[in-house]
Order: sequence, then C-alpha cells, then structure tokens
Amino acid sequence: TYILAIESSCDETAVAIIKNGKEVLANVVATQIDVHKDFGGVIPEVASRIHVENISMVIEEALKQANMEVEDMDGIAVTQGPGLVGSLHVGVQAAKTLAWAFNKPLIPVHHIAGHIYANRLIADLKFPLLALVVSGGHTELVYMKDEWSFEILGTTQDDAIGEAGDKVGRVLGLPYPGGVYVDKLAKEGKPVYQLAKPKTENELDFSFSGLKSSVLQFIDRCKRKGESFVPADLAASYQETAFEALLLRARKAIEQYHPKQMVLAGGVAANSCLREKVSVDLTNQYPDVEFIIPPLSCCTDNAAMIGVAGTVAYLHGERGDFDLTANPGMELER
Ligand code: ATP
Ligand code: MG
Ligand code: FE
Repeated sequence: TYILAIESSCDETAVAIIKNGKEVLANVVATQIDVHKDFGGVIPEVASRIHVENISMVIEEALKQANMEVEDMDGIAVTQGPGLVGSLHVGVQAAKTLAWAFNKPLIPVHHIAGHIYANRLIADLKFPLLALVVSGGHTELVYMKDEWSFEILGTTQDDAIGEAGDKVGRVLGLPYPGGVYVDKLAKEGKPVYQLAKPKTENELDFSFSGLKSSVLQFIDRCKRKGESFVPADLAASYQETAFEALLLRARKAIEQYHPKQMVLAGGVAANSCLREKVSVDLTNQYPDVEFIIPPLSCCTDNAAMIGVAGTVAYLHGERGDFDLTANPGMELER
C-alpha cells in the first residue's frame, strides 16, 4: 500500500508518502517556528495563512522525493484533529481535493494516533502496548489492547507537559519553543531546587500547572529577596520534577496493565533527559517490558507518523467522505 499523508494541525505543514505501513518514501516538513518565534507562541491566524501558502509546494516536494504520482497512491490520509481549527482545515481541504480529483479513498487520522504510531518507523509494535503521550497539547497514558484500539487511562487535569515546558522556558528568558531550550540549559545544571510535586486524585492522571506556578514563584521570591539563582539548576529541577511525575504514573500503569511494550510519543519525547530516564531507569526496572522511543526526527509533528497510522486506519476500513471537516475536539478512543 502507498499512502500519501498530510499533517497541518499546528504550525508544521507536512506531507509524507508511506509504503506498506512503515517505509518512508518521502517526509517533508515546512515548519513555521521562525515566524512564531517573534511572538513567543503560535498565532493561529498566521499559522493557517502560512499553511495555505505552503501546502501545494509541500505536496509536490513529497511526490518528487518519492518519485511518484498521486495516481500511484492507495489512499490520502489526513490529520482531522485535534489541533487548531484553521490549521487543520487547510490539510483537510487539500486531502479532500486530492481524494476527489484522483478518486482515492480519504482517511481521517487522529493526530495522537499518529504520534503513537511513529514508533512503528523503528520497531515492530507488540500488543498490549502502553503509550506515554507527551506533547504540546497532550499528556496521556494510552492503553492499546490490540492494533488500532485506544483506551485513555490517564490524562492531564490542567496543562500539557509541552505547554508547561514552553512556559518555563519563557520565564527563564529562553527562545520559543521553550521546552527545547530548557532541555539544553538543564544539561549544564543540577536538580538542586525543591519544586511542588504534581498531585492528582486519580493516580494515572497528570497535572503540571502547580509545578509551573512553583517555578514562577521561585523566580519571584528570588527577585523580591534580591537573591540570585542558577537558571541551569532551575531548568534541571523543573525537568527532574516533571519527568519523575511522568515516570511515577507510567510505573503504576505498567504494574496494573502488564504491557509487552511501552512507547514514548509526542514532541516532548525528543527531550534528552526523558529519553535517558525511560531507556535506562524503566528498562532496568522492568526487564520484561520493551521500551521504544521514536527517532528524534519523528517526535515533533510530521506527516510520516500520520501515514503510518493512516495505513492502519485504511486497513481497518476507516473512510471519510466529502463532507469531512476538521474536528479540533476529535476523540482518540475506539
Ligand atoms: P499535540 O501533539 O498535543 O497536538 P503539538 O503537535 O503542538 O501538540 P508536538 O509538536 O507534538 O506538539 O510537540 C511540540 C512540543 O514539544 C512543544 O511544547 C515543544 O516545546 C516540545 N519539545 C520539543 N522538543 C523538546 C525537547 N527536546 N524537550 C522538551 N520539550 C520539547
Ligand atoms: Mg509544532
Ligand atoms: Fe503533535
């Protein structure tokens, strides 16, 4: 099977061509980070306008990379949600146009299913599987009893971990997206500061707004008292507290659900400290579980992951018709 996949849920315009559900023939990402950097965050109006400007070019580039035509495809997969409605809309319209013009099946894909399935690019997935989803808008433990079956075991009660990291980056005066630079800075520091540990009622849920406030209060308190602090140590302390909270819940889920594999998914899976904790600490603690971390290039938004998930969706008979619209609140569970 050949699937052309389109992803435009946030600030990346991306198109990929995937062969047989895991082989990447093309993977083109046009990121808008440089535009949104000046504003310290994504401006939705600007994002959708740039998607419109880029989408045709990115589709052409992907076809050129794969040396293929739309005719050769078995289906057109597209991120239907969740994400920014105006951004999603551009990808959905492009996918509908291609599906209509070339008479190909249209396959709607959930963005987070894509993040999870990015792991298939480097490993055979084994079920039951547990996914720790850590991205800009999501922090979830997802249980997959089988292929294309998703159950959300726990989710964030407030901020997503990526969002919290970006905010911490901003208050430390780092560029956008903050989480990336907090990661870099933390390498030069030690986790010596005590910050508020996330607490939740349900033991598999997450919470990061308290930790985020705790970082802000720490900085305010230092300023008020005229004391100095080491930014690298604060970055390391934030990461240590946030990631230990993730691992605590992941351990509980592993012990309750006994998965064969645990995969990391989402942009924050690119974090060097989190990758190390999962590949060393969890691997040592649970030798019977296989831990998979997606390749760095496929952690943040891309269309290869949508193509991999889209192939599974295609084989499960999922189809969209021509009244398909962007769905910012799309549900993952099925
Ligand atoms: P969602 O996938 O939930 O819809 P999104 O698509 O906007 O949200 P992703 O592209 O999956 O999010 O991930 C972007 C997030 O990943 C940003 O918050 C960014 O700061 C974070 N991120 C990227 N690299 C790193 C890193 N090395 N360390 C920490 N955070 C990182
Ligand atoms: Mg992004
Ligand atoms: Fe994403």
